[in-house]
Amino acid sequence: ATTFSGKHVALFGLGGSGIATARALVDGGAEVLAFDDNPQSVAKAGADGIPTADLRDIDWSRVSSLVLSPGVPLTHPKPHWSVELARGAGVEVIGDVELFCRERIAHAPQAPLIAITGTNGKSTTTALTAHILKSAGRDAQMGGNIGRAVMTLDPLQADRPYVVECSSYQIDLAPSINPTAGVLLNLTPDHLDRHGTMQHYASIKERLVAGAETAIIGIDDSWCAQIADRLERVGKDVVRISKRLPLTDGYFADGTDLMEAVDGRYSRIAFLEGIGSLRGQHNAQNALAAVAACLKAGLELGEIQSGLESFPGLEHRMEQVGRKGHVLFVNDSKATNADAAAPALSSFPRIYWIAGGLPKEGGIEPLRGLFSRVARAYLIGEAAPAFSATLGESVPYEISGTLQAAVEHAARDAEADDSGEAVVLLSPACASFDQFQNFEKRGEFFRQAARAIEGVLPIGE
Ligand code: ADP
Repeated sequence: ATTFSGKHVALFGLGGSGIATARALVDGGAEVLAFDDNPQSVAKAGADGIPTADLRDIDWSRVSSLVLSPGVPLTHPKPHWSVELARGAGVEVIGDVELFCRERIAHAPQAPLIAITGTNGKSTTTALTAHILKSAGRDAQMGGNIGRAVMTLDPLQADRPYVVECSSYQIDLAPSINPTAGVLLNLTPDHLDRHGTMQHYASIKERLVAGAETAIIGIDDSWCAQIADRLERVGKDVVRISKRLPLTDGYFADGTDLMEAVDGRYSRIAFLEGIGSLRGQHNAQNALAAVAACLKAGLELGEIQSGLESFPGLEHRMEQVGRKGHVLFVNDSKATNADAAAPALSSFPRIYWIAGGLPKEGGIEPLRGLFSRVARAYLIGEAAPAFSATLGESVPYEISGTLQAAVEHAARDAEADDSGEAVVLLSPACASFDQFQNFEKRGEFFRQAARAIEGVLPIGE
């Protein structure tokens, strides 16, 4: 029996993961009452055999939990009405990760659970960790904020590792979260619109590592460094990682070498040299976290190194899509703001930079320190006028208008540049919605346009 069989469970939010979770609840024997503000979603769920009910009309005294889908407002700007109804009736409000954790505690507490959070790099670290485990022959299951909803993963078994990406939202709704290895990569101000203050945002993320058997923490920012110190003081098993500092104890990057430090003595445990999908200092942080988690899961160093080397990388995140002679084409469409574009700009010395789209507050001003790497910029979309003003005299640019024109012009100029490797980089520092449905569609367009250029050999096909 499941932890929820026979119970009345209300569920709000019938998008893809909401439906999947509702289905798992039904299959696990819960009396489900599912709803959404969008009548079409309710109708579709009903047609799929999920019991629906208007949560304004139900008897809340019989309900044991309200399960919320990701994105339904919990506090900001104000709680969703279903949250207020539940709280008013004294009913707990949880998410799918909580359901999963309760199942694990009840039925397979030995099943390794690696839970990963942070402001940036969650998806890369999650995918990399799962990839290393799988390439070492483990039946790793990956889900959460990336890919499949956790309740749809293969059934819990003592020897089946789970790698779960957790947003702050999911942690907030998972009071029982207690992973075998909890990873907190980094903390920078982001999504504060949803979480209020940085203090509050950090305290949510801290819960994931505080509940872990081993807490793997990137200590390169002061918020995370303090969390590591605090957890260690209360006796927690803390593993520190740093992409730049030689630590006394923990794992750190020395260039592309990944080092282990024990009592101030260093040894190289893995390396990233020549691994295109893990280029850049930010990826050293992601790789260190994945290595630490895989060591905790019992893998050997040789298995880890070969997993690192065969990692294909994630689409749209510094994804190398093609090459023509000395010109490399890189799709970083996921970089929808200046902070996210910074790693790509830092990773290449000579860049033909395609930027623009729907601008975010602050524009590309935070990237000014990296402008010296940009040989020429190609501006697209609504942000073009504002970005051209920021670039001013410091970087040559053109207003290309469309992504198609930008790719063609950037490729032409990069080919004519004979000073070594030149990179045509789409790292827009903008949302895509003025010209594309989403960042994925923008990245696919770039990939195709780059590969359509005569003489370009595709990478990663
Ligand atoms: P998330 O899932 O947290 O959004 P991703 O792995 O999808 O993170 O990476 C998104 C973007 O964030 C990447 O394109 C890269 O520019 C940047 N990034 C990735 N890892 C890190 C990191 N460890 N620190 C800072 N920025 C990162």
